[in-house]
Order: sequence, then C-alpha cells, then structure tokens
Amino acid sequence: MILLNGRLIRDTILPGLIARFEALPYKPVLAIIQAGDRPDSTAFIAAKKNFAAKLGVEVKHMAVSADISQKELMAIVHECNADNSIHGIIVQLPLPIAIDTDAIIDAIDARKDVDGLTATQVKRWLSGREDAVMSATARGIRTLLKQNSIELFGKKVTVVGRSLLVGKPIIAMCLNENATVTVCHSKTADLASETKRADILIVAAGKPGLITPSHVSPGQIVVDVGISRGADNTLVGDVDFEAVKDSVAAISPVPGGVGPMTVCSLFENLADLCEQWRVQ
Ligand code: NAP
Repeated sequence: MILLNGRLIRDTILPGLIARFEALPYKPVLAIIQAGDRPDSTAFIAAKKNFAAKLGVEVKHMAVSADISQKELMAIVHECNADNSIHGIIVQLPLPIAIDTDAIIDAIDARKDVDGLTATQVKRWLSGREDAVMSATARGIRTLLKQNSIELFGKKVTVVGRSLLVGKPIIAMCLNENATVTVCHSKTADLASETKRADILIVAAGKPGLITPSHVSPGQIVVDVGISRGADNTLVGDVDFEAVKDSVAAISPVPGGVGPMTVCSLFENLADLCEQWRVQ
C-alpha cells in the first residue's frame, strides 16, 4: 500500500512557492475575513497563517462579530477589493446564518478570489479554463495524485459528496482531467457497488467511518477528503483507514493527506493571481 502523504508533497512544493512570492515586486497580502468565532474556522485560519509565514505572505485577519450585518460585511469586502495592498481575499465559511453567503462571496473581486468561489471563477473552472482559480481542495487532490504518478486521464473515478464547496469542484476537476466520473450522495441507492468499481475513489461526505472494506476493491486508489472530530477530539476522515488500508493500492491518511495539500494549493492560487494580475 502506498501512503498518499500530503505533508511530504507540500514540503517539496514549498521552496518553489517561496521563490514565486519572492519574485513579485511587492509583499503579497492575503485578507481573511472571519465573522464569528467558530473553533473549526479559527483552526483552519491558524493553519493558513502558519503556512503563509513560511512563504513570506502577510495575512490580514479581519475578525468581526457573528452579529455583523449584511451591509457591514459587504462594506469590508468592498474595502478589500479597493485596497491595492491586498492581493487575495478569503471569506471564511460558513458565515452566520443571517448572512446571504452567495451575495458576500460574489462581491469579492474575481481577481482576488483565492478560493475560486465567485460566480466568475465557478464558471471558469466548470468550463475547464486554464485561467480559472480552482478550489484549493480540488487542486490539492490533483497535485497529490500527480506527485504520486497517479493519472486521472481515462480512469473511472467515483466521488462521494456533491456540495458546492467541496464535492462539485472535485467532480469538475476530475472531468477536466478526462476521468469518467460517477457521483454519489446521500440518496445513492447502493453506495458500495458504486465505490467498488472505481479506479480512484474520492470521499468528501463528512461522515466518519462511511467507507469500510466492503466499499473498496484491490488495486484501488482512495483519497479521503473528510475532516471530522473523533470522540477523543482527534481528526478523522470518512474512510475507516485501519480497516481499509491493506485492501487498496494507495490511500491518503487523515490528518496528513488532503488537508496539507489544500492549504498549500490555496497559496498556489494566490501566487497565480499575483502573477496574472500584478495587483499592486
Ligand atoms: P456537506 O456540505 O455536508 O456535504 C456532504 C456531501 O456528502 C453531500 O453531498 C451529501 O449528500 C454527501 N453525503 C452525506 N452522507 C452521505 C452518505 N451516507 N452516503 C453518501 N453521501 C453522503 O460537507 P462538505 O462541506 O462538502 O464537506 C465534506 C467533508 O470534507 C467534511 O468532512 C469537511 O470537513 C471536509 N473538508 C475537507 C477539506 C480538506 O482540505 N481536506 C476541505 C474542505 C472540507 P447530499 O448532497 O445528498 O446531502
């Protein structure tokens, strides 16, 4: 069994990424707007800040109260758009329930949209355009596979999960890479029969232990996108790693698989945007 080690791949990408940021004629700045103080969001932001520090990217963390109004939040996004010293913008999701998330995300200047979530960028990655900002998770999975010499081209890929934020960008990425894609979700009648026949199984359901030995087949590549907290507060994926690992050809662990690749790819997106637009 090959371990798809995201930390290792991230560390090999790091020097090249540092060089890309160093080559810019300005110090790149990433604005992260956080409304409220959800512990999971705070932990994700901390991971981004840690990685940014290694890259020489400045993070402007704009933390506001969960009861901020739509108008006030929109004003912050507009300020970041207009501020030429800011090169990338993340609105940390999920936003408080009272906020119209789509309207806030679509207010981000597409040239600063490092998450690839604005309508402009979504249309670009759905179309397979080379200048699209792809979701960092989808990009991270593509890199994780490529760096392990695993081709998507012509492969049967099953993706479990179809959310707009995670599943759909992965589905689009696999299609753009010329895989033949099957999509499973909570209404799929016989999950195991769909997952078993894949060459590459990508699971993004947020359901710990969903994938057991009866869902996989020998020779299969398994990518676990899920991140949940286990009973002892440790991070767990959607795949029962210990039970499945000896039945497949390759598998990504949680933690240490897709997670580090997502953070790394987010900054690859920022580097692309800085190079494309030279925003100053
Ligand atoms: P979500 O919005 O809850 O979507 C979950 C998806 O899984 C839905 O499409 C749902 O189907 C499907 N699903 C749920 N239970 C299922 C079941 N029993 N069988 C088959 N499909 C099922 O979650 P999300 O935002 O997409 O996130 C998914 C996971 O990815 C979470 O654990 C999240 O923490 C993780 N994540 C990881 C990274 C990373 O870098 N590793 C990044 C982002 C998110 P329906 O559409 O029918 O409801």
